[in-house]
Amino acid sequence: MSDGVTGKGPRVAVLGAGILGLSTAWHLAHRHGIRDVVVLDRGYLCGGASGRNGGGVRAQFSSEANIRLMRESIEICRDFAATMKINVWFRQGGYLFLARDAARAASLEASVKLQNACGLSTRLLGPDEAQRVVPELSTRGVVATSYNPDDGVVFPWPFVWGYARAAQSLGVALRTFTEVIGFETAGGRIVGVRVRPVQLVPFAQGDTMVPAGEPYVIACDHVVLATGAWSPGLAKHLGLALPNKPHRHEICSTEPLKPWLGPLVADLTDGLYFSQSMRGEIVGGISVDPVPEGINQASSAGFVTKYARALLRCVPRLGGVKVLRQWAGCYDITPDGAPIVGTPEGFDNLTLACGFMGYGFMMAPVMGKLLAEHIAGKTPPLVHEWSLERFARGSTLRETMILG
Ligand SMILES: Cc1cc2nc3c(=O)[nH]c(=O)nc-3n(C[C@H](O)[C@H](O)[C@H](O)COP(=O)(O)OP(=O)(O)OC[C@H]3O[C@@H](n4cnc5c(N)ncnc54)[C@H](O)[C@@H]3O)c2cc1C
Repeated sequence: MSDGVTGKGPRVAVLGAGILGLSTAWHLAHRHGIRDVVVLDRGYLCGGASGRNGGGVRAQFSSEANIRLMRESIEICRDFAATMKINVWFRQGGYLFLARDAARAASLEASVKLQNACGLSTRLLGPDEAQRVVPELSTRGVVATSYNPDDGVVFPWPFVWGYARAAQSLGVALRTFTEVIGFETAGGRIVGVRVRPVQLVPFAQGDTMVPAGEPYVIACDHVVLATGAWSPGLAKHLGLALPNKPHRHEICSTEPLKPWLGPLVADLTDGLYFSQSMRGEIVGGISVDPVPEGINQASSAGFVTKYARALLRCVPRLGGVKVLRQWAGCYDITPDGAPIVGTPEGFDNLTLACGFMGYGFMMAPVMGKLLAEHIAGKTPPLVHEWSLERFARGSTLRETMILG
């Protein structure tokens, strides 16, 4: 058994170099001095959802756990550039949520109350007040909105690179184009991760990888499963059934415009969201129903049509603006809308870090910290609350402010 580099297995093998895996690896090294860590990814950095998302970062949620976590995450985002020495283009223009019916308006109102009790300065705004925040917004059909000026957007790629570079500078090994294909177990524990080198097939639909070398085993003491939408497939190799499912989510960006849009606007009725990047593009997406289950990162024409219609309903003046680029990634969807984290029963040296729906990017800064604490031996209460076992007990978790 050999890891091919040091001759000695790393203490922690993190599977998946998305934002969750990298944030966890960095926190392990930075906060706990656990530097004997290897992060493995079958593709390139930013090839998964972490490089394909909208960069939205918000504390407007309907559950106290999410609000408090995201409050901390936003603070981390604010300091990220200085800490990691990389510009992540963080812009706090706020999030403006729109409700178009009485039920959603009531739920928005309840969420705002809870957010205020948790210390957020979110305000419930009527349609006229919302137009003061976004003068170009058509509020026809909008009955209530909520606005938190502290929410914002980041550019996801440098965020991922920042964690990767900082983790590497502390001694963490990062191996891209290294696919995990199985596990070695002994005495009921995982003792190694079986991998093989792979390469990307240029111009193939999606990210098609082909073997590019002989399989080998990396010995380890602890495994972190942070392969996002691919996690259920990998967990099967351990005989572990995960309930999360991959579903494609599409997104696009327009030609750059002069800065005019402050907040990210999100419509709770159809799942439309859009923001303006620091380069001026309007970046946004919308829910497309039904999305068949499965890994699919290809784009569709139906999405652009639906998105364009919904966007024009909100901002009719965008009618002449051209979409320049569209792409897609996978949401990692759980049955109750909350992530799956922690150590599942019967797998003492495995930590799950998956099921982050459409809000895992924004949660990663604080979740990486909590997961590293768990691996270092101090399990935070939330890790119990979001355990895999809650599904067997009948989960009571419920988050209503979910997009997509
Ligand atoms: C279009 C879109 C828009 C979104 N918008 C937002 C947003 O505005 N804000 C927000 O917070 N979140 C958003 N999300 C969700 C967010 O992107 C994800 O929740 C987050 O990036 C998940 O990170 P991850 O590290 O768990 O997974 P990923 O980033 O998907 O990383 C998993 C990694 O595992 C690797 N992998 C898979 N199989 C293997 C294997 N066998 N061996 C080795 N490596 C493997 C993959 O290559 C991948 O790099 C969006 C998602 C999409 C798709």
